Amino acid sequence: MDKTLHIIGGGMAGSEAAWQAANMGVPVVIHEMRPKVETFAHRTGDLAEMVCSNSFRSDDDEQNAVGLLHWEMRAANGLIMHTADKHRLPAGGALAVDRDPFAQDVTATLRNHPLVTIDYGEISELPTDGHWIIATGPLTSEGLGQAIAKETGKEALAFFDAIAPIVYADSIDMSKAWMQSRYDKGDTEEERTAYLNCPMDRDQYEAFIDALLAADKTEFHDGETAGYFDGCLPIEVMAERGRETLRHGPMKPVGLTNPHQPDVKPWAVVQLRRDNALGTLFNIVGFQTKMKYGAQTAVFKMIPGLEDASFARLGGIHRNTFINSPTLLDNQMRLHSKPHIRFAGQITGVEGYVESAAMGLLAGRMAAAEILGQTPPPVPQDSAMGALIHHITGGAEAKTFQPMNVNFGLFRPVDGLKGGRRGRKDRYKAYTDRAKAAWTDWLDHVKAPETA
Ligand SMILES: Cc1cc2nc3c(=O)[nH]c(=O)nc-3n(C[C@H](O)[C@H](O)[C@H](O)COP(=O)(O)OP(=O)(O)OC[C@H]3O[C@@H](n4cnc5c(N)ncnc54)[C@H](O)[C@@H]3O)c2cc1C
Repeated sequence: MDKTLHIIGGGMAGSEAAWQAANMGVPVVIHEMRPKVETFAHRTGDLAEMVCSNSFRSDDDEQNAVGLLHWEMRAANGLIMHTADKHRLPAGGALAVDRDPFAQDVTATLRNHPLVTIDYGEISELPTDGHWIIATGPLTSEGLGQAIAKETGKEALAFFDAIAPIVYADSIDMSKAWMQSRYDKGDTEEERTAYLNCPMDRDQYEAFIDALLAADKTEFHDGETAGYFDGCLPIEVMAERGRETLRHGPMKPVGLTNPHQPDVKPWAVVQLRRDNALGTLFNIVGFQTKMKYGAQTAVFKMIPGLEDASFARLGGIHRNTFINSPTLLDNQMRLHSKPHIRFAGQITGVEGYVESAAMGLLAGRMAAAEILGQTPPPVPQDSAMGALIHHITGGAEAKTFQPMNVNFGLFRPVDGLKGGRRGRKDRYKAYTDRAKAAWTDWLDHVKAPETA
């Protein structure tokens, strides 16, 4: 069989995957549709173009999960991190990047690699054989999107994300909130207590609606609104339709009894649902929103029980093509139904430049190892890479799967450490120390690529 690895999409994930696989000795063809076919967000024909912000976010590898991902990618000779470091701009603790030289440098490095070919053109059918990675990102072309939907079923491919905010469980005030499913539904105690409820009295509800209506919102980009009204209204749009709409929708107070005040019927209830198998993250049910991030934090902290909430991610609605990875992919990012095809990058349901490149790094290495007949050990779950791949290929709730940034809520707890805000610094340091050891150990067991 042909030992070439074909990668569709030369963005953050595709570029990193190509680099990793080529450095393991595998010939790679990158199929990139730009500049022949454009998207509404890209401006150039360069690989790895940063479509919006020029930040790779925090570079703190001891106290921040994305900083830890930077560290792990540098340790794995990542092209995206190496090039970002070369074109770094002053930005305090964040890693900001001079975007055009960065993308030009990634493009030149790959073009000059003896094992990499760049083939410009759109691919709009699923390949029937060979070794492939699909890394076509949030703006996957329509033709390929349709081909993927045909394979996976329409319900397993989303064309936009409607993200409800996600809260760290240990930042919720359980002296106000309680666990209960509506009407105590469910066969097991776990199901009967599946939701976390935050009660509001009438004044709190009215103040909350006022704040929602007054909050700053972001606008949609041209071409971004497709599918937006399909049963997924932002909460502020629901509030605009009538002050009672939310109380009859996601905030309805029926079937619930507040054990802290059993005689008082709440006027409205905000419900949160477990977002990962570990039970460390909860999403606010039905609270997808276009409010700006600052406004979201202020408005959501008005919810009783969430006054001190920490958010693993805030809400949003964007044009975003992504598959239901927990049901479709195995732990090597291969499509169950067509294992010669892997997925990588934002289309797998991670979110952000760094996370997308990270999944490209893993997919590139895994695909190359397979072509070379190697069997690398599983990616350690305690590394940031492992936490992320474990989340998208199994740890996340498949029914409510939405794109995810890397965050410490995805990590397995470290035994014997204090929870809550006060123990946070020690906890994060313990996570990052454990992750670095696990990742270094994994890298020692897989074939080391040449240096950049
Ligand atoms: C409008 C917008 C703003 C964003 N802002 C940010 C931000 O500020 N910060 C952040 O971290 N993330 C942001 N993102 C998310 C960002 O796109 C991802 O973080 C990252 O670029 C994803 O990497 P990727 O490799 O998966 O996809 P991309 O980087 O988008 O790469 C995918 C590549 O595939 C190509 N392609 C698509 N279809 C085909 C096809 N059929 N055949 C051949 N090639 C194809 C595309 O041209 C593209 O080059 C934004 C996304 C959008 C849409």
